[in-house]
Amino acid sequence: KVPNIGDFVSLESHVICNLCAYCRTGRGHICQNTRLIGVDRDGGFAEYIAIDAQNAWVNPPDMPVEIAVLQENFGNAVHTAFATDVTAKKVLVTGCGPVGIMTIAVARAAAARSIYATDVSPYRLDLAKKMGADLALNAIKENVVEQILAATDGEGVDILLEMSGAPSAIEQGFALLKTGGEAALLGVAPGPFTFDWNHHIVFKAARVYGISGRKLWETWYQSRGLVRSGAVDLRPVVTHRFQLEDFEKAFAT
Ligand SMILES: [Zn+2]
Repeated sequence: KVPNIGDFVSLESHVICNLCAYCRTGRGHICQNTRLIGVDRDGGFAEYIAIDAQNAWVNPPDMPVEIAVLQENFGNAVHTAFATDVTAKKVLVTGCGPVGIMTIAVARAAAARSIYATDVSPYRLDLAKKMGADLALNAIKENVVEQILAATDGEGVDILLEMSGAPSAIEQGFALLKTGGEAALLGVAPGPFTFDWNHHIVFKAARVYGISGRKLWETWYQSRGLVRSGAVDLRPVVTHRFQLEDFEKAFAT
């Protein structure tokens, strides 16, 4: 829907060129001329922003504001989970930050057979369970590989959704990925690290997908469908509410 004056909108932060080969072949999410709101141009936390109409996603007027603001990050979760076919599969989500726990909710909505989650924060692991994880493991205190192998009859998982970027979690995730499995990677690693390429990918015949942003605009339509149908309830993700002027306090929380 083209935005009109007075519409309630959410923003896609990737402003794409619409002219390059990627944009012209339906892959605007990897447009190399992308300018990011709040990074390449002003506006991330401004009270007012001038934005191209195409980047304004028109929300239903009755959508709660705290759900509307989550949609872009939720899109990362949807893009990652839907990069593979999680239905009836055993899925491991490494990293339970906001996007990780929303990814769990998407996998649950898509009828994953079982969902395993790892993180280092007990608070986030509790949220992961609330959002649909069958087993949420503390990677510091528990033997993740041993426990998930035990839970999967020694087989490991069909699908790895890597949301942490932590080399130790990536190692565990690929160690648990079954031969012929699929991995979708959204987490950004702190830098180059040692990785068992042969055993984790080549000999395993794994299929690995790097995930960037949201598909424009397929992911937005999928996200809307999941939320409006009630298949995904994002309300548990909203743990605190702050006024805009208290943003520093919010970040510190
Ligand atoms: Zn482009």
